[in-house]
Amino acid sequence: MIVMKTDATEEDIQRVVSIVEESGLRASVIRGEYQTVIGPVGDERRLDFDRLATLSGVKEAARVEAPYKLISREYARFFGEPGAHRTVIIGDVRLGNGEPVIIAGPCAVESRHQIMRIAEEVKQAGAHILRGGVFKPRSSVHAFQGMGARGTANAEEALTWLKEAGTAFDMPVVTEVRGESMVDLVARHVDIMHIGARNMYDQDLLADVARKGKPVLLKRHFGASIEELLAFSEYVAAEGNKDLILCERGIVPVGKGKNYTRYTLDLSAVPVIHSETYLPVIVDPSHGTGRRELVFDMSCASIAAGADGLMIETHYDPAEALVDGPQMVTPDELKEIIEACSTLYTLRKKTRGAAA
Ligand code: PEP
Ligand code: MN
Repeated sequence: MIVMKTDATEEDIQRVVSIVEESGLRASVIRGEYQTVIGPVGDERRLDFDRLATLSGVKEAARVEAPYKLISREYARFFGEPGAHRTVIIGDVRLGNGEPVIIAGPCAVESRHQIMRIAEEVKQAGAHILRGGVFKPRSSVHAFQGMGARGTANAEEALTWLKEAGTAFDMPVVTEVRGESMVDLVARHVDIMHIGARNMYDQDLLADVARKGKPVLLKRHFGASIEELLAFSEYVAAEGNKDLILCERGIVPVGKGKNYTRYTLDLSAVPVIHSETYLPVIVDPSHGTGRRELVFDMSCASIAAGADGLMIETHYDPAEALVDGPQMVTPDELKEIIEACSTLYTLRKKTRGAAA
């Protein structure tokens, strides 16, 4: 990290940038009101920080030994993030640092009628953002892979329905991007690009998605530590995109495993992530539990833990859903969850005060 003096000239800044680039790294230049900071992106061992520190206009040059720093609370002030929490703005929705934001919708987009009806009902229940998978990551190649698997024309049609439903009921939309070949297509139709748990480690996909400049929803892999989630989030930030929403969705259960819950929701991840980074964090209690009857309680627990929002799979008739029916709530149940979470949010704000 290279901190420039307040009176550093543009020439001083460019000299540092050139040295960073000549060493084979990229330079992320953050221009604050009074001070410019240059964050090298790449292998910092290739940089001679002692030499950089002696250059004209340089106040401080030091190697930061952390797998993530662009998103780190500790270095936030150097990288132009003065606020304690970042708010990601998606259309009229503000996610982070305020009322919980509810993302709801089916696991998969199955028909125009299905997504339009669900959009209408989740909106009435109080949801803010519409979800719906077009490309589904599945453990079995024999299972329904989403409409996107039937070819580009079908994928485009499903994406168009999702967007149409979002527009009709005034909600931004989010869908998962499962591979690099889908990035452009998905970016043309959605407001938030979602990277699923199974792809959290795909750094090329992360960078590609980040470069679209749209907000990114990154889910924690079910075998990943919190540190890994943060380290891989840094790949998005390194592309200059800090409109990142992190999502806890459960990790692999211990022992015999899935007898009671599909995954184990790690709600301690919420306050830990908040203490490490200024990025917003949401919870997905649907995949986290795999059971409809647990979604209410785990949603409340998530908000009590400080989550900035929830992602809840919802269907007017879960039994009819091609994917994940057992974990879907109905729009009526969603409404109860949203009301309870709103009360809990107010209570938390009152009891936690500035620390919330
Ligand atoms: C999803 O949200 O549609 C999904 C498949 O979740 P995850 O990646 O967390 O399994
Ligand atoms: Mn699902």
